[in-house]
Order: sequence, then structure tokens, then C-alpha cells
Amino acid sequence: MSLKIGFIGLGIMGKPMSKNLLKAGYSLVVSDLNQVAVGELVLAGATSAKSPKEVAEQVDVVITMLPNSPHVKAVILGPNGVIEGVKKDTIVIDMSSIAPLASREIAVELAKKGIAMLDAPVSGGEPKAIDGTLSVMVGGDIGVFDRCYNVLKAMAGSVVHTGDIGAGNVTKLANQVIVALNIAAMSEALSLATKAGVNPELVFQAIRGGLAGSTVMEAKAPMIMDRNFKPGFRIDLHIKDLANALDTSHGVGASLPLTAAVMEMMQALKTDGMGECDHSALARYYEKLAKV
Ligand code: NAD
Repeated sequence: MSLKIGFIGLGIMGKPMSKNLLKAGYSLVVSDLNQVAVGELVLAGATSAKSPKEVAEQVDVVITMLPNSPHVKAVILGPNGVIEGVKKDTIVIDMSSIAPLASREIAVELAKKGIAMLDAPVSGGEPKAIDGTLSVMVGGDIGVFDRCYNVLKAMAGSVVHTGDIGAGNVTKLANQVIVALNIAAMSEALSLATKAGVNPELVFQAIRGGLAGSTVMEAKAPMIMDRNFKPGFRIDLHIKDLANALDTSHGVGASLPLTAAVMEMMQALKTDGMGECDHSALARYYEKLAKV
């Protein structure tokens, strides 16, 4: 018998991810504060519920895809939350990018009711969410992971178990550090080329096939050149991830000096009113300094 799935958080990522679950044949119950997004999923074949509790009452697996730790805590553990509606054997999968410590705290509360949880954040952004080719990094019990593999694979190109609960989000933080530093490096290099009088478009064409080429460069250099900073992935959300990475590193005794520097650049752009822009707008930080 096919599992019934609940999906809470139908934003840039959650909407296409939940549509891919429908396409894979799962029946879906959805909920979001944004009723327009809910209406779109109902048109696509889902049913809606009024609260996370009502979602949980009707399904075998509850998936959350929300901005950050406080949102996930409120939706799962708060009043009318998932925890009030779960039944024996319900599995909770949080696919948001949140602090690993928060994942562990939520899992502990759910475990008191005998409910298993996976943290399963994703990488790939909106295009891969639409294509169903996300990379999913998963923390939690391996038996629970095995039971949920097909559900996750319906949204993903790769699904990798990286350890116990929280390990999914540690992996995601590592991913976000690499992406942020890559965008900063690319912005710095293109700023150098532009100020030195070489067309950045031609620089991109010349180097994209060499060692400096990367997935980040392919996705973000054209946006920088086109001055198209429509998100994609918002600076606000990347600040959230870098703050979680720095908090985590302080807790475990790692040192992230480059992450701290890029975090300050993103923070300056947010102060300048660019928090809603795509993170490729990091290039604007260099352009402002260099008066390009
Ligand atoms: P988003 O802001 O577009 O969507 C979040 C959704 O959650 C919104 O529809 C909002 O209405 C809903 N929501 C917030 N609080 C709620 C509540 N209490 N109850 C019900 N719904 C609530 O964000 P997004 O870009 O889809 O990102 C979601 C998560 O995925 C974040 O953790 C983000 O870091 C991560 N992520 C995003 C991308 C990307 O490219 N956008 C890529 C990988 C991972």
C-alpha cells in the first residue's frame, strides 16, 4: 500500500518538491500559511489541512520544508503542531536547512512519543526541485532511512545517509560554506577582471572549462552578468545558514575564518536592503567597493 504523505511549507522549494511526490503517485495532504500556494497544490491533486496537527492526523509520513529552526520547532512541537497529531509509526522528515542542534532537540521530543525523525536537507535549488533531481543528505536511524528512501528519491537525483540525526544538517552546512565561498571567489575574480579592463563575459567563456569552472560558476556567473538577482536562493537564507555554520563550528571547536568574512559581506548587503536578492548579488559587494 502506498504511503500517504503530509507536506508543510510550500515555498520556492516545497511547492515543486510536493508536486513531484504527487507525480510519483503518493497521495498528499498539504499545509502552509500562504493559501495561494495551498490552492495551487490542491489544483494539482493534493488535499489541504488547516494545521500541522491536522496534516499529521491523516498521513504516514510528515515532511516539513520551512525557513529555519524556529519555524520547524513551531510547526512540529508548537500548539496545533505535528506532535499533537502523530500516530504510532508516523515518521517525520524535516527537509529544511536548520541548525543540527535544533534537529536533535526536535527528534528528542518526538522520540518521547515513540516517533522517529530524519533530518534531510537538500541542495540543488529551485531548478533541481522542479526536475526532481535534488541532492538529499540524511541524518537519522538507518532503518528509518531505508523505509523512507523511495519517498525521498521521488524528489531527488541522489539520497545519501550521512550519519545520526543532525548529520544531514551538518552536511548541508558544509555545502553552504562551499557555495558561499565559491560565489565570493567568483565575484572577487570578476571584479578584478572588470576593473582591469577585461570583459567578464569573455573571462567566463575562457575559464569555465578549466579548473576554476564549477557548478556554482555555471549557475551564478550568468546571473551576475545579466544583473538578474531574482531568487533562487535569498541572501537572507544564506545568512541564516552561515550563522548556523558559525554557531556549530563554535560548539565543536572548528574554525571558519573565510565563512565569517563572507557572512559579513552578506550582512552588509542585507543592511543595504538586498536581503531578498539571490545570493549571486554578493557580486554587488565587490562592485560597490570597486565603484564598478
Ligand atoms: P520559502 O521562504 O520560499 O518557503 C518557506 C515556506 O514556508 C513559505 O511558503 C511559508 O509560507 C511557509 N511557512 C513559514 N512558516 C510557516 C508555518 N509556521 N506554517 C506553515 N508554513 C509556514 O523558502 P524556500 O526557498 O522554499 O526554502 C525552504 C528551506 O529550504 C530553507 O531552509 C532553505 O534554506 C532551504 N533551501 C532552499 C533552497 C533554495 O534555492 N531556495 C535550496 C536548498 C535548500
